[in-house]
Amino acid sequence: MTLKWASLLRRWPGFFSRLPTGPIYQTAANQSTLQAQNSLYTPDHIAIRETLRKIIDTEINPYVDQWEDAGQFPAHKVFKILGNAGILGVNKPTEYGGLGLDFSYSIAIAEELGNIRCSGVPMAIGVQSDMATPALTRFGSDELKRQFLVPTIAGDVVTCLGVSEAGAGSDVASIKTTAVKKGDDYIINGSKMWTTNGCQADWMCLLANTSAGPPHKNKSLICLPMKTPGVQVTKKIEKIGMKSSDTAQIFFEDVRVPSKYLIGEEGMGFTYQMLQFQEERMWGVANVLTPMGNILQETIDYTSQRKVFNQPVLHNQVVHFRLAELATEVELLRSLLYRSVAMYVEGNDVTKLASMAKLKAGRLARELSDSCLQFWGGMGFTDEVLVSRFYRDSRLLSIGAGADEVMLSIICKFMGTLPSKK
Ligand SMILES: Cc1cc2nc3c(=O)[nH]c(=O)nc-3n(C[C@H](O)[C@H](O)[C@H](O)COP(=O)(O)OP(=O)(O)OC[C@H]3O[C@@H](n4cnc5c(N)ncnc54)[C@H](O)[C@@H]3O)c2cc1C
Repeated sequence: MTLKWASLLRRWPGFFSRLPTGPIYQTAANQSTLQAQNSLYTPDHIAIRETLRKIIDTEINPYVDQWEDAGQFPAHKVFKILGNAGILGVNKPTEYGGLGLDFSYSIAIAEELGNIRCSGVPMAIGVQSDMATPALTRFGSDELKRQFLVPTIAGDVVTCLGVSEAGAGSDVASIKTTAVKKGDDYIINGSKMWTTNGCQADWMCLLANTSAGPPHKNKSLICLPMKTPGVQVTKKIEKIGMKSSDTAQIFFEDVRVPSKYLIGEEGMGFTYQMLQFQEERMWGVANVLTPMGNILQETIDYTSQRKVFNQPVLHNQVVHFRLAELATEVELLRSLLYRSVAMYVEGNDVTKLASMAKLKAGRLARELSDSCLQFWGGMGFTDEVLVSRFYRDSRLLSIGAGADEVMLSIICKFMGTLPSKK
């Protein structure tokens, strides 16, 4: 992919300068993070992160509490701001408005988005940039990309990913939604569940059965405009976490879309979606690294001030040793992620490593948020602190985008230890 230098310079005048010296990198925690990042990130990655950090500080974090209370954030408004800054398509081709950079830049963005003080908004942004659009970018026709990808990267529209159904989450192959060819159109019937951004989306990257063939070869991905007659968003699902991200249940009744809205080849949808999942999973891992670091730091700050039995909570060996252990685990996860990303950027299949990283990220986020919350005492049980929000939000990581058990099955397949189905 060619890099449009002029476009980069326009968006980031300091793109090539040595960075960073800004206040956000001056804490001890951030300096160590930055050093660790050197294995994957160049000053260019860090410049993009700094641009994004300014947007987070001014346009997002001041409103997060309000959006969490409202149970939804204004996706169109926020995406337009991000689109204008070039954040929604860093690894998308320049001819469609992207920056033509490699996937490591998406990972840098995902990490920086972790500085948003909730996980719902970053997840919604990730759906737009790295979950609903990789297949379209890789396999979609030029016409389709101009119609759907260009406005998505620009932040003019909101997108969602329709894979899971009420009866099919882990077992993607068993989805029931159909798209039947009739003349030049597909007629879509069925439903989707758990659709992030579903209440606000303008189009969906939909996985549907386009034939009655074997379940891994009968599926296709289709761009579905959400205003098409017959598309009905029936429910906004209430959740224990990820409050500011809307999650929808959606029904389709005789929804007619032109067959040219098919992404790539008919029957290849399952394969495309599995590929798309790799980016989604690495993105999810990157996104959780920053809040884990932030919560460790905030826990250190709190426990060093909070005195119990005449000494700071932090001075108890059980506390500072536990925090040291968790920090070590975070750095191990970071190393695994960066290795996966570096190999992926070089064109390797990283399904095994990405699945390992996703598994570990889900488990570590649960352990870390639980341990840290404990050290905050009663304060950790309130809505006043980040750790309690992360405790609720991060629980999803072991379930969404492939549950821990699905990751284990994939890893076992690569290890040759998964018993074959009779
Ligand atoms: C907040 C939220 C947002 C989401 N956003 C989206 C979205 O935008 N688009 C989308 O398509 N989907 C989305 N999902 C769906 C998500 O990917 C699914 O919830 C997930 O894949 C699990 O599917 P399920 O809920 O149907 O659980 P099930 O498939 O019913 O699994 C239940 C449990 O069974 C266990 N299990 C599964 N497989 C195995 C196995 N092989 N061996 C042993 N145990 C196993 C696991 O513990 C799993 O948690 C979202 C979900 C949530 C909660």
